[in-house]
Order: sequence, then C-alpha cells, then structure tokens
Amino acid sequence: MSKSLNLDTMVNTCERKGLQVLGTGDIMQPDWLKYMEENLEKNGKGMYTYKDIYFVLQSELEDEENIHHIVFFPDFSVVREVQKKLDPYSSNIRGEWGGRPRVNLSPPQLADIIIENGGLIGPAHAFTPFKAIFRQNRYKSLEECYQDASHKIHFLELGLSANTDLADRLKALNEVTFLSNSDAHSQKSYSLGREFNQFYIEEPSFEEIQLALERKDGRKISLNVGLHPKLGKYYNMFCNKCRRRILFKKSKNDLGINFSKYSVTDNFIIFYESNPDIARNTYIQQVATKKMVCPACKEKTGKNIKIKLGVSERIDSISSYKEPKHPTHRPPYINAIPLIDIIRSIKGIKSKNSKTVVKAYNGIVDNLGTEYEILLDLPVETIKRCNKEIGGVIEGFRNDAIEYIPGGGGTYGNFKFDAE
Ligand SMILES: [Zn+2]
Ligand SMILES: [Zn+2]
Repeated sequence: MSKSLNLDTMVNTCERKGLQVLGTGDIMQPDWLKYMEENLEKNGKGMYTYKDIYFVLQSELEDEENIHHIVFFPDFSVVREVQKKLDPYSSNIRGEWGGRPRVNLSPPQLADIIIENGGLIGPAHAFTPFKAIFRQNRYKSLEECYQDASHKIHFLELGLSANTDLADRLKALNEVTFLSNSDAHSQKSYSLGREFNQFYIEEPSFEEIQLALERKDGRKISLNVGLHPKLGKYYNMFCNKCRRRILFKKSKNDLGINFSKYSVTDNFIIFYESNPDIARNTYIQQVATKKMVCPACKEKTGKNIKIKLGVSERIDSISSYKEPKHPTHRPPYINAIPLIDIIRSIKGIKSKNSKTVVKAYNGIVDNLGTEYEILLDLPVETIKRCNKEIGGVIEGFRNDAIEYIPGGGGTYGNFKFDAE
C-alpha cells in the first residue's frame, strides 16, 4: 500500500487501460482496509464499487513454508473474521506490513481457515524462485502442498514470468484454472493491469467470479493476457548473489560440454557451447541438484555461490511434456507488452514516471481508445496512422516477431524490435 496509490488513481488507470474489475490488493493491511471500507460502496453481491469500477477484496498471504497465496474475500466482515483467526499465528498481521501477512500455519491449515470463512485461495506467482509453491526443491503439484485441502483449490496465479504454454507442460495442472494477474504491489498505478483476465460471467459478483474460477454453469475465464514471460523478472536462471543471468550461445569450437568457455558482462554470464541447447539442459539438471556455482562470483571472491533456476528452467525440470498440452477448457493466452513499456523503449527512456512517457501514453489513449483496445484489437494500420513506431511494435508482438532479452534474478526482461 502506498500514498500515491489511491482509489482515484486506481480508477483513473482502470479507465485508461480498459479494466472493469480490480482486486483491492493488500486488503488485510490495517490502514488500507480502513481506507477501502470507508470509500468503497457495497454492490450487495460480494463486490464493491468506486465510481464505475468494481472491486474484489483481495490479498496475498505467506504461510510457514514461505509460500505466497492469493486470497479473495466476499465481504469486509470476512476479512476481519479471517484476520482475527490468523492473529494468533502471525506477528505482523495487525502491523504496517500486514499487507502480505506472514502466518505460521501449513498450506492446508491456512486454506481451511480461508475457505471455511467463505474466501477463495490459490497459489500466488506459482513458479517464481522465491516464495512460491513450485520453486526449486519445493512442490510439483497442488496435492503435495495443500494435501487434504487440495480439492478445494481451483486456481493458481501464473506470475509475470510464466504463461499458459509454460504451465501446461505440467500434467498435474490440467484441471487448474490459470489467472494472469498483475501482482502489483508497487506504488505506481501503471503496474495495475499489466496482466489481466477476461471473465465470462453474468454480472459482476463474488459468486460469479467463484463460478468462473471453478468453471461451473458455463462461467469461465475466456482470455488471459500477460507479459511475454521473458519480460518477467524471474524467467531466466541466475546467480543468487550477483544476480547475473545465465545464457548459452553457439560456439564454433567443439570442446565437449564442460562449461569452461564463458564471458561475464554486467548482467549476464554467457556460456559458449557447440550445442547450446544440449549444454543448457545438462546445466539445468546440475543446477537442480545444486551442483552449479557462479563462475563470476568464484573468480571475484573465491566463494561458491549457487545458481538458482528461473521460472522457465524450473518448469523444464519438473515438466511432464516438452511441448504444452492445453486441456480443452484452457482459454487463449496473449503475450503482450504494456503500452508504457513500448513507449519507453521507443523513446529510450528508462523511467516509467517520465513526463515525456506519460504524455505520450495519454496522447495515444486519448486518440485511439483504451490501452487494451490498442494492444489487442485495433487494426495495426490505424495505430500506425497515429504513431508509426508504436504500431510497429504492436504488430511485432501480435505476430510473435519480437526478440526478447530474458529477465531473471529480479530484473525485468527487455525487447528489441526494428520497425522496418
Ligand atoms: Zn508474493
Ligand atoms: Zn555470481
């Protein structure tokens, strides 16, 4: 929760992006809870409104195994009731940092409390290397984690560095509904809706959302839209200390696989191998058994610092299939680039708060429609007439013709695109 993020800035962002329903985020944080309770209007159906936007009460929770869960509540009274029940197990639920409270309960114990009180729960950013259910050396299925409560878990949040193509390589997730949520905890409203879900429901209500997550009575999620996974900050494997990402490139000389030829840059360690794909797979297997250390840190400090798997390599190491097998219920997933990032890249500006960037963003939205209409629906020619370069990038990601530099170790990925 933050001071620059409030209901007015949230609603304003929703209107520009084209979002109709928003999670409150951090609803258990006492100040945020009070602020929301004072300002949101009840719609009588387990949802709340502020101006024209609907809100679902929602938070993340951390359990005793450092796994983050995402929870939805139908009512403020349920939030308070759950707070009371979790209070004996948490030292921070009543405090300033209670936005994502840590609760000393096992995953099934926590799930039972949430569900018994009428809430919904599932894993948050399920594959990230820290704080996630499927992180390295942790679980491989919902059943292992939630045990007896697993039949009550119907959804998981993919996280910014995963998409449906990656997650559907795990047979164990066949029946699970995937959410592509923004996971926005930051102060700036531009993070809201950087990923989103399209719900096929009768009306905005908690019950309808629940039906959609459980895929009952024809309700469902009809579209997931998210960052290209390589743009996320945990896609690629990385050194746990210097945070350099590990990449493999083709070398002309065949020395056999021995990981001896590499270069070190500010952000990357690049291994050169005659067959980079095979070498990478061997490397991942050895990282998974904790055998690989960072050559850059070793050179500099003499210490052995372990390499950690990113989301893509963790999925490689626990996947059932080489290629995704989408169940018939799985909606399409669109890999997108947020408009603000497209503008930043074209203008060569790093800051998302730059006045030039914000002005250009507002200009194109005022001209053409909401961000999502621009990214997903508008004919490329129409966008190009307004701004040739932006139209070029959008055409590029729609045609999967963008080169991505994978993120990892906490640094977001990037993209390269030549408009001509
Ligand atoms: Zn989290
Ligand atoms: Zn290192």
